[in-house]
Amino acid sequence: MDYEDGKGWHNATITPYAPITLSPAAMVFHYGQAVFEGLKAYMTEDGEVQLFRPDRNFQRLNSSNARLCIPPIDEDFALEALKELLRVDREWVPTAPGTSLYIRPFIIATESYLGVNPAKSYKFMIIMSPVGSYYKEGINPVKILVEQQYVRAVVGGTGEAKTAGNYASSLKGSEIAAQQGYSQTLWLDGKENKYVEEVGSMNIFFKISGKVITPALNGSILPGITRDSMIEVLKSKNIPIEERAIAFEEVVEAAKNGTLEEAFGTGTAAVISPVGELKWLDDVISVNNGQIGEVTQMLYDTLTGIQYGKVADTFGWTVKI
Ligand code: PMP
Repeated sequence: MDYEDGKGWHNATITPYAPITLSPAAMVFHYGQAVFEGLKAYMTEDGEVQLFRPDRNFQRLNSSNARLCIPPIDEDFALEALKELLRVDREWVPTAPGTSLYIRPFIIATESYLGVNPAKSYKFMIIMSPVGSYYKEGINPVKILVEQQYVRAVVGGTGEAKTAGNYASSLKGSEIAAQQGYSQTLWLDGKENKYVEEVGSMNIFFKISGKVITPALNGSILPGITRDSMIEVLKSKNIPIEERAIAFEEVVEAAKNGTLEEAFGTGTAAVISPVGELKWLDDVISVNNGQIGEVTQMLYDTLTGIQYGKVADTFGWTVKI
């Protein structure tokens, strides 16, 4: 679908996957006006294709649009278009356990112009790809390096938008983590380098002394849809859940006095990922002896159960196509 100033969004079409043509002066290449989303379609045991809270993805796309000066899309129309695309491409939704069809809606500035202004033309596209299970052999706890040198986002920046530049700026941290044998980076706040923000593509939770804690949405953290959903699940099970600022020292302290019980990340791709180890300066913190904890397992079972239609969706989160 295309956008032109004065004409609005128009020309919604479903076409076979193929390269597109852009001017070398397309503004997205120079000024980074690019926003995206990530969601999945799941095949249930009854052979139905369903989405998980897709309305939230299009809402968040519009929030990202607002931050990047990109014109808003019609969220209902986008969802209907996605459903239509999934009906056309139904055979691409994989059926093996743990697999799904990853869906990537995105918008880029296409106007051919050099000069820092919001573009006057855009392209909104949706591409999709079958993806395997995130975990090849059961759920493997991840090892995370707490980043010290770089920050991902600051309050007032674009951290809470899902824009390409945030990921470009996070690559260096991931490279450093990988060099040290860690698969993920935990970002601290950009002001004091003290408070926990989030992991590469997941929001983060800790269970300390029976309470689950996750950083409050402070304007620089991506408001994860899985995060929001898991907070709802925890509340429904009467498990104490706090959304507040967490200094990383608090996690270190809890690990030292034996009250750090579990840590896990949440995200569309990562689902629920137990954290087995955290490295912070010279401290290596082992969480639950590298084993998946009880609450982490319950959340994983509930989330995947709802997504694959094995657990009753009492929250009304799934949308059949
Ligand atoms: N934080 C970041 C930076 C992400 O890229 C993602 C993945 N979209 C998340 C958190 C988790 O968000 P969600 O649960 O909506 O996938």
